[in-house]
Amino acid sequence: MMNWLKDLLAGGGTEAGPRMPPLQTAGATAAGGTSVAVAASAAGKAGRAANGSAAERAYVGDIGKPETLARQLALVIDLNVCVGCHACVTSCKEWNSSGSAGPLADENPYGANPTGTFFNRVQTYEAGVFPGTETIHFPKSCLHCEDAPCVPVCPTGASYKRKEDGIVLVDYDKCIACKYCAWACPYGMRELDEERQVMTKCTLCVDRIYNEELAPRDRKPACVLACPTGARLFGDVKDPDSEVSKAIRERGGYELMPEWGTNPANHYLPRRPNNAVGTNPPETWKATPPTGSEEA
Ligand code: SF4
Ligand code: SF4
Repeated sequence: MMNWLKDLLAGGGTEAGPRMPPLQTAGATAAGGTSVAVAASAAGKAGRAANGSAAERAYVGDIGKPETLARQLALVIDLNVCVGCHACVTSCKEWNSSGSAGPLADENPYGANPTGTFFNRVQTYEAGVFPGTETIHFPKSCLHCEDAPCVPVCPTGASYKRKEDGIVLVDYDKCIACKYCAWACPYGMRELDEERQVMTKCTLCVDRIYNEELAPRDRKPACVLACPTGARLFGDVKDPDSEVSKAIRERGGYELMPEWGTNPANHYLPRRPNNAVGTNPPETWKATPPTGSEEA
């Protein structure tokens, strides 16, 4: 288990992460008024045991020791061809407002300061030094980490990783909106639905990809289907013959911020040098977006 996560679970701050409030003790009442049975010292393990749901979880036994899964679905995003059109953002919002993960809240959508819940956002920023600058469009959503720190911190077992395909999900019936998972996610990929008071995030369109009412060609995440440039690939990164594995292998696919030790399943294909604007960008450009607040 990652040392910084151990520290977080113990309630202490680390250089790598913020200080987290101590976990509730057994029988404590959460802010929302829900009584939860959790043990302060082993929140994930005790929480899952209390819910009797360990059989469906990938995280069993000691917290922080995920099983190695045979199958891991993921997105691979090509930064060379993403043009920042936000088709993935709007298609995600549309599907997940009508599917089982929604509706996704929109607060004051036509006002001066609209806010809302998005599973997928695109950050756009300039990189490089003039005149060798480039505009980078960087789509970001939950990376469905193999060693997902958002799972063991969840005191109710609401956050879990599926054994059959590695998708990390939230069980809304169990979520008490304590936000521990948001503290634990180093990528800022958790979004609180203020209206429903549940934590949300990308589901990899789990309600599309197995949906037999859809034509087989449509059983992909909505963002993948909507992308006009084909920047988003979807598949099993554990299958060496899959399209995503080949793209990672042959085109230098990389993980976002591997130093966190989360083993994100999603990968990015690095940008190639743009000779048209000068020689400043390196041979391949592994973009990492700036930290801080995100703009949709
Ligand atoms: Fe959890 Fe964040 Fe990883 Fe998604 S990106 S699995 S929310 S830690
Ligand atoms: Fe679990 Fe996150 Fe909901 Fe808290 S806010 S109960 S950690 S899913």
